[in-house]
Parts: sequence; structure tokens; C-alpha cells
Amino acid sequence: MDLPWEVLIENMPVGFAYRRAVRDQNGQVVDYVFLLTNHAYEKITGLNREDLIGKTVTEAIPHIQEDSIPWIKIFSEVVELQKARTFERYSRVLHRTFHVTAFPVFEDEFATIFIDISEMTALRERMGEKQRELEELNLALYKESITDPGTKLFNRRYILELLSKEVSRTNRNKKPLSIALLDIDFFKRVNDTYGHQAGDLVLEQFSKRLQQWTREMDYVGRYGGEEFLLIFPETAPEIAVQVLERIRWQMESLPFRLGEANLQITFSAGVADYQGDAIHQLLMRVDERLYTAKRTGRNRVVWIMMEKEE
Ligand code: GH3
Ligand code: MG
Ligand code: MG
Repeated sequence: MDLPWEVLIENMPVGFAYRRAVRDQNGQVVDYVFLLTNHAYEKITGLNREDLIGKTVTEAIPHIQEDSIPWIKIFSEVVELQKARTFERYSRVLHRTFHVTAFPVFEDEFATIFIDISEMTALRERMGEKQRELEELNLALYKESITDPGTKLFNRRYILELLSKEVSRTNRNKKPLSIALLDIDFFKRVNDTYGHQAGDLVLEQFSKRLQQWTREMDYVGRYGGEEFLLIFPETAPEIAVQVLERIRWQMESLPFRLGEANLQITFSAGVADYQGDAIHQLLMRVDERLYTAKRTGRNRVVWIMMEKEE
């Protein structure tokens, strides 16, 4: 005849095992005996109670010592310290992940409650993986949305966004801000002579050079077909002009290889600094100076000349 609490324990939806610690001659807890287990415990551990009740764990489960969970050590602490322990771990021997609560009951007797969280843990891991995949995808999509595919530089929309950010920053910190607009000279000839694909290769190489020959903190974007917008944060226009002059000279001196041909590519540029006015005015100034550079012979950088004209 089962007592009501026995019926209750037997039918609990969580694994339950009641045990008693076994001590050696020195009083050290070295093992434990199974006194009672319920149906759910058998189901989630895959053990039969006939093989457990009245036996020590080392008899019932011979390789228990090799488990990833140090059962005997944990349970000995429960009875020695008379303190409950809760942990979530994977058992190498039982091939399941458990949420375990162990608590002392009376002297060396203690109870354990087992919840099988293997599926939940696997699900959690899969969700984490999916989350990481999503984050990676998001980052890739974001990068794509700000990049010009042909040159790998920032695209027009993003370089203008950066310019607006830099202008706001300049308004706060009162440091100078310079920009430059570059346009490749006689680029149509490259296409006409060597073909559009060769032109694309030149654009790619040209962009790489711009990226390499500017500082880490500068921004380079493709503004149009063969036009580039450069942003020089915290930089006075005199310095920006120096940088541009160096790049102009390097570009002119180092020919582009197109198959057998060596091609000299030059550019014209306008430089302008932010003067507290609207962004479109800044862009208009730099565009006018680029136009002046073209008009006055190309392969040159214009800043101060326009200042005098104004
Ligand atoms: P200028 O010195 O006055 O700037 O002469 P230009 O020939 O560079 O100027 P123009 O504006 O007449 O021609 C620009 C050329 O750039 C025309 C266009 O086909 C070419 N172009 C623009 N974008 C691309 C591109 O993505 N790939 C290639 N291959 N050519 C391009
Ligand atoms: Mg051009
Ligand atoms: Mg152009």
C-alpha cells in the first residue's frame, strides 16, 4: 500500500532520488546509496530502479567517477555543509544535460531533483548560433549599404552622411575641417583607348591609392563616376592642400599598368574648409575650385586661388 506522499513523489514530473552518503573509516564521504527513486528519474537517466535501490552509485554506475559532473564531491558537500546545491551541467555518462538541485534532509540523507534540460540547452545553443549568424549578416548588409561596389570606397550617400557628421562635430569642437573634391583628368580617353573595363580597373587602382595615401582618420568616398570626395577631419585647409599635393605628385609619378601599357593618370582637385555655413555651400565652394583647377590646366590642386577670386 503506497502512502499518499509516495504516490506524489512517484508521479512528480521531475526526477527525484533520495540517497544516503556512505563514509569510509575516516568519516570521509566516498559514495552514496540509493534509497528511493521515482519514475521520472528512471526515465531521464535511463537507469532502472532495480539496479539502483540499496546499491552504492559506484556499484550501480561503475564509470561514475569518469563523469563530467563530480557527483560524489558535490553530494558530500551537501551533507557535510548541510547546504543545498543547484547546478546545470552535461553528464558525459548519462548523455544528458541536467538541472540538479540537491538538498540535505536528515543527517547523511539527502534528496536530489533532476530536470532534463538537454533539449532546452540544445535549443538555446541553436538560437545563439542563429543570433550570431543574423548579426554577421546584418554587419555584411550594413557594409554593403555604405560601400561603392566598383571601388570599395564609401558610396556617395555615406560619404555625405559622414560629412554631415563631421560638420556637426566641428560645430562642437571648433576645430578646422577640410574637404577635397577630385576628378580624374581626361578619363574619357582611358575608356576610349583601352575600353570601359580597363577604365574600371584604373578606377579601382586609383581608389586603392587614395585610400593608402591618406591618413587612417580621413574618409574617402566615390562621389560620382570618376569623382571622389575626401574628408580631412580636424585639418586646416593648408594641411589638406599639402596632403593633396603629395598625392597629386605620387599619382603623376607612378604609372598605372594596363596589360603592356604604362598609363599616367592625373587628377584635378578643389579644396575647401568648413566656415560655419551650410553643407551645400561648402560643397559648392569645393566644386567651383575643382572647376577652376580643370579650367586652368588640370593636374593641380586649387584652394587659395579661389580665395583671392572671391
Ligand atoms: P576632365 O579632365 O574634364 O574631367 O575629362 P574627363 O574625360 O575625365 O571628363 P568627362 O566628364 O568628359 O568624362 C568622364 C568619363 O568617366 C566619362 C565616363 O564614361 C567615365 N566614367 C565614369 N564612371 C565610370 C566608371 O565607373 N567606369 C568607367 N570605365 N568609366 C567611367
Ligand atoms: Mg574627369
Ligand atoms: Mg567628372
